[in-house]
Amino acid sequence: MQTQVGDINLFETALSQMEEALRYTRVSDDTIEKLKWPKASLEVSIPVRMDDGSLKVYKGYRVRYDDSRGPTKGGLRYHPLVTIDEMKALSFWMAIKCALVDLPFGGAKGGVAVNPKELSRFELERLSRGYIDAVADFIGPDVDIPAPDVYTNAVIMGWMSDQFNIIKRRQVPATITGKPVGMGGSLGREDATGRGGYYVFLEVAKQLGLNPGETTVAVQGFGNVGFHFGRLLHEEGYKVVAIGDSQGAIYSEAGLHPPSIKEVKDREKRLDAVYCHGTVCDMVEHERLSNEELLELDVDVLIPAALENQITERNADKVKARVVLELANGPLSREADAILNSRNVTVVPDILANAGGVVVSYFEWVQNRAGYYWTINEVRERLKEIMTREYGRVYEMSQEAKTSMRCAAYVQALNRIAHAFESRGTKEYFRPA
Ligand code: NAD
Repeated sequence: MQTQVGDINLFETALSQMEEALRYTRVSDDTIEKLKWPKASLEVSIPVRMDDGSLKVYKGYRVRYDDSRGPTKGGLRYHPLVTIDEMKALSFWMAIKCALVDLPFGGAKGGVAVNPKELSRFELERLSRGYIDAVADFIGPDVDIPAPDVYTNAVIMGWMSDQFNIIKRRQVPATITGKPVGMGGSLGREDATGRGGYYVFLEVAKQLGLNPGETTVAVQGFGNVGFHFGRLLHEEGYKVVAIGDSQGAIYSEAGLHPPSIKEVKDREKRLDAVYCHGTVCDMVEHERLSNEELLELDVDVLIPAALENQITERNADKVKARVVLELANGPLSREADAILNSRNVTVVPDILANAGGVVVSYFEWVQNRAGYYWTINEVRERLKEIMTREYGRVYEMSQEAKTSMRCAAYVQALNRIAHAFESRGTKEYFRPA
């Protein structure tokens, strides 16, 4: 979550990734200059009546980075370390991500500096409704469309959507995506990010010959994204040998059973290596590891699915996995990325690997506007088509240009943003004859 780890600034990392990609493509100076600045940033104070009668004020943010390709789109997170700089970096990545998978959206991000685990359910609801009261004039289906992210979920999106409707005195479901299905949410949004990453992983596995049964996987982060990815890989026959969350990690050489672990975690708020048959859960043989140890395990595939800046120059040399599929946003620092590339580790970048969430959010927005809802199979087939197609394009570009997949992904996205921006006129167009 941290924007600043030692001297690592997330926004600088994001801009440096763009700078590198500019060596491989020609976009106008105007586009580059424009992309260095967020379009608009909003900082708000959210007063919340606590259960004990006291009043607490929380800081909230929403950054709309670039809307050249359409209304801005991006998640909302609740975390004590949320800052405006982090929002800038994450909203920039959303602009790049939406362009990369060719959605008609720009990028945005929002958040509240709060530890949601310290709030009661009622306090959390009042905070969520208060956030929407504060940003209501900044968002909307044709302007900016929030969605869930770290420590926010469908229930919170439901409260927020309801609050927006109350303010506007009409139903505007396309304002917020990731809603409960009963309130206009899309089927398949819940597991979309993990599933999108899984479709990408299947392509990588085909190319590298990573066979189920033999391939070992470690997953850092066991929330929405990490759980669904781990579950799908397990169903496919891959060995998920390690799982970690904010408390630490568990490891079993024989492989873990993500659905059982999730069941117990939901009930007891604890990560335990269990295998459940019906309601009876038995402990399986395992070791307890720290989060750092999980990242350094001798596994084939490492999945960072928690927070940013987890692999830096401090520990990149110790990563043993052949494949790192970034499901979290920004889990590798710039230096770590360079170290892993120099060691020929296959790094599938976040803007591609975790784009499944925003793809199905786009489907939700389309369904809300059309008032016509799709089946789960339609959602999954369309998601698979987009993730597989864009992975293929990025992979081919990276092979042709002999560059990393991250760089190729940026090139693809920048070309698309530049096209939209330059269609409105560039310096050359406006220069007097
Ligand atoms: P979540 O809140 O559901 O889960 C976060 C998980 O990370 C939890 O298991 C938590 O215990 C764990 N965690 C927190 N601090 C940790 C630490 N220091 N070390 C190890 N684990 C830690 O969040 P999520 O929606 O699963 O998001 C995870 C990542 O995926 C974030 O980077 C997010 O931006 C990114 N992402 C999410 C979506 C989405 O649709 N939810 C889409 C794209 C990207």
